Amino acid sequence: MAAILSSASDPSDLLRISDSNIPYRFDQIFSATGFGAKRLAKNRLKLMKAIDPLIQTFLSDGEKVQFVSWGVEYSFVEQFFMGLWAHLINRRALVFTDRRILMIQINSRRKVLDLKTQLRFQAIDKFATRTFGYFGLVLRNGNKFNITGIPRKDRKYIKDFVTEKLAATRKDAPGLGIENLCPKCGNKVLGFPDRCNQCAQAFKSANKAGWLSLAFPGLGDFYLGHRWLGFTEILGAMFAWGAVAFPFAWTTYSEGGPWIVSAGIASAVFVFVHGTDCWITRRVGFKGIYPEG
Ligand SMILES: [Zn+2]
Repeated sequence: MAAILSSASDPSDLLRISDSNIPYRFDQIFSATGFGAKRLAKNRLKLMKAIDPLIQTFLSDGEKVQFVSWGVEYSFVEQFFMGLWAHLINRRALVFTDRRILMIQINSRRKVLDLKTQLRFQAIDKFATRTFGYFGLVLRNGNKFNITGIPRKDRKYIKDFVTEKLAATRKDAPGLGIENLCPKCGNKVLGFPDRCNQCAQAFKSANKAGWLSLAFPGLGDFYLGHRWLGFTEILGAMFAWGAVAFPFAWTTYSEGGPWIVSAGIASAVFVFVHGTDCWITRRVGFKGIYPEG
C-alpha cells in the first residue's frame, strides 16, 4: 500500500486505482475542481506521502480516509503570548475518516512532529458562528475548537462533510472532546500517564516542562522539543536580566538606594519573565502527548 502512494507522481494516477484494501478514498480526496485545483492536489499528495506511514499505523480495522487537508489550530492565549511561534507548534494535517478527524502535528515542510489527537464526530455539537477565515466548532463538552488557514477550496467540502457526519452521529453518546493519541502507536491515551499502556512508549511530563521554564525561560521548550522557541526565549530572558534588570538593580544599589528596591526589580523579572514562561510552557505541554527520546 505505502508503495502506491510513494510511487505516485501525479494525483490522477491514484484516481484509477480501485482496491478495497486501500484505506484511502482517492476519488473523494482529490475531488476538487476548477482554478487552482491542480496545485492544491499536488500539495495534498505531498502531505499524504509524508503522513502515510503514520496513518497506516493509526487507522482501525476497516477505517477509511475520506478527505485530507491542513490548517493551524488557533488559540487566542497562545497567539497572544507566543505570537508567530504559536503557528509553528499548531500546524496540523487534518485527516477526515469515516469515524473521526485525526489531527497530526506537522511543520511547514510537512514533517510529522510529536502531537497526535483525534476528534470523533460524536464529540462535536455544531459549527461556531462563522468568523472570517476561521473554521470553528463547538464541542458537546462546551469547549470550542478553531482552525485557521485551511485551503479556501477545502472549507466548503469539509463543512458539508462534517455536517453529514454530525447528522449521522447525532443520536450516539457524546464523545469526550479532543482526545490525545499515543504518538507512536495511535492508541487513545487517557490523562497524562508516564507511558503508553499499549506500546510502552515513554511520555514527557508537562509539569517538568513548566518547572524547567521556571528555572530559566526556554528550558522547558527545549525539553518538549521546540528548540527554536526555546532558543529565542533563552535569548529574551538573558536580555531581560543582563540588559535591564541587573544594570538597573546595580545602579540603584551602588547609588546607595535601599537593597529592597534591587531585590524588587529582580523579583519582578522572575515573576513576569520566568513565571509567564512557566505557565505557557506547561500549557503547551498539556496540549497532547510528547514522546520521550
Ligand atoms: Zn503507544
